[in-house]
Amino acid sequence: MAKIIDGREISRNTRENIKKRTSEYVEKNGRAPGLAVVIVGEDPASQIYVRNKAKACEEVGFHSEVIRLPAEVTENELLSVIEKLKADGKIDGILVQLPLPRGLDPKVIIDAIPPEKDVDAFHVSNVGKIMLGEKCFHPCTPAGIMKMLEHEGISVDGKECVVVGRSNIVGKPMAMLLLHANGTVTICHSHTVNLKDITSRADILVAAVGKSKFITADMVKDGAVIIDVGMNRDENGKLSGDVDYENVEKKASAITPVPGGVGPMTITMLLENTLLAAENSSK
Ligand code: NDP
Repeated sequence: MAKIIDGREISRNTRENIKKRTSEYVEKNGRAPGLAVVIVGEDPASQIYVRNKAKACEEVGFHSEVIRLPAEVTENELLSVIEKLKADGKIDGILVQLPLPRGLDPKVIIDAIPPEKDVDAFHVSNVGKIMLGEKCFHPCTPAGIMKMLEHEGISVDGKECVVVGRSNIVGKPMAMLLLHANGTVTICHSHTVNLKDITSRADILVAAVGKSKFITADMVKDGAVIIDVGMNRDENGKLSGDVDYENVEKKASAITPVPGGVGPMTITMLLENTLLAAENSSK
């Protein structure tokens, strides 16, 4: 039976620590760390994410602002909103909720956020620094996974790590963070041949595919650590991960459930990055 890695519990502990550091920050600086979230259009999933982010800010004592813009906003109008937030002394972190409506180039928009306020760590400068292993913000989902591994005392050093998925927000930065922690890392994607042979070698297997129950028990080594990033909803809205949890759990040494695994850590790491941005700006 695998150890269940409880993302909710780790997230609670981490947020308690953030709350404490926030009080100290307020005492020292006379203001709370501030996060601005910009949302464009009416995408229902994005609306939920943004609400959850604002609620999480409130819980730890941050100042937060949600800027809602219509789907028809022009690139220049959106850039001028970012320009204002850039100069706003109450705002330490700026996040533009993705995906953006068609017609807005996310690359142009994200790269307009100053790297020191880029708490999602999607700016080209932060992406480059991750590659180089320099100090910078880490993208929230991979950062949350590293925190979970650390919390569970699971060392990455020398381990065979396989990441299935190569997106810019999860797969690629995940692989880099595992590599910097001295894992031997393989990245798989939709063109990978003999996927099962590769995943079966993994001591630590990260699934970030976006396909329900994609990782089955026959793809997993006995005693592997399984990290399930997937958040897939069926036609009834029921959430499932990328891992066939019921069967894989019997072979794994540790596993993250969905829900209650990686998901809760993502917003927590956004809070952590925002606090870091505030602490950096007051140095
Ligand atoms: P993307 O769709 O951007 O990337 C999916 C990746 O999976 C791609 O690299 C794709 O390969 C690969 N893939 C697709 N099919 C296969 C296949 N048959 N074999 C091997 N690889 C395959 O998704 P994201 O990275 O954004 O998200 C992945 C999942 O994680 C989603 O379910 C998402 O909802 C969830 N997620 C959860 C978060 C959380 O907080 N828990 C945060 C972010 C995402 P290729 O590049 O070749 O197309």
